[in-house]
Amino acid sequence: MLFLFAIAALLVTSIVGDSCESYSHPQYGKTGKCIQTSKCSNSNYISNLCESQPADIKCCFSAGTTTGTGNCPSIISRAGWGARAATSKTNMATPVSYVVVHHTTGGTCTTKDSCISKMKGFQNYHMDSNGWADIGYNFLVGEDGNVYEGRGWSLVGAHCIGYNSKSIGISVIGDYTSLKPNTAALNAVKALIQCGISKGIIQSNYILRGHRDLDSTSCPGNTFYAEIKTWPAYRSVQRIGSTPSFNTPEDYLVMQDM
Ligand SMILES: [Zn+2]
Repeated sequence: MLFLFAIAALLVTSIVGDSCESYSHPQYGKTGKCIQTSKCSNSNYISNLCESQPADIKCCFSAGTTTGTGNCPSIISRAGWGARAATSKTNMATPVSYVVVHHTTGGTCTTKDSCISKMKGFQNYHMDSNGWADIGYNFLVGEDGNVYEGRGWSLVGAHCIGYNSKSIGISVIGDYTSLKPNTAALNAVKALIQCGISKGIIQSNYILRGHRDLDSTSCPGNTFYAEIKTWPAYRSVQRIGSTPSFNTPEDYLVMQDM
């Protein structure tokens, strides 16, 4: 036991002496921490800054760490938009491997007040008309550039059959059939995903998909769908060289993914 304490004391002492924490990263500033590279998402680390540590301990910067919230956009909480309480909750096992992107259809919103009004409308519709426990999506994003908390990071959503318990569902408020979301909204979606990775909720090697990849729907709209297909994490569901179909049975798609 004494021996273990001695080792621990030695480690603590040595961490203090590393240059990692005082190194100013050109993009992330002085956010470095000496951790195992396997826990540093996006391989966002620099070698040779954790001089006293074993070889697999490297200087990881905040955009890539699995702890901390330094990379998260501001999120309007449920209390912040006046959400009703959920009628039931199911915890989700994390980290999840998928992010599923949606649009809400209907009008967009470009101010916080108008987005909050829409949030309440979605929640009322999902709970009162659909009979769901809560608003369906994990998060929504407005063209005001804000992220609005739906079910949040830790609960199973109701947004994509077969994927609710293994994905974070993000919906941009508006109809993106012929226009794509504005830059503020697109940036907010990207920042939210990075935030989820930094919290250890979304796997760093996650797969990004549009709702239409996984069910018979036009969601998230032709133009937004074309946009997300250009993002690095997007992967087609078609792994065996056939033509994409909107009518592939859900169970078949799930089996392909496992
Ligand atoms: Zn959808």
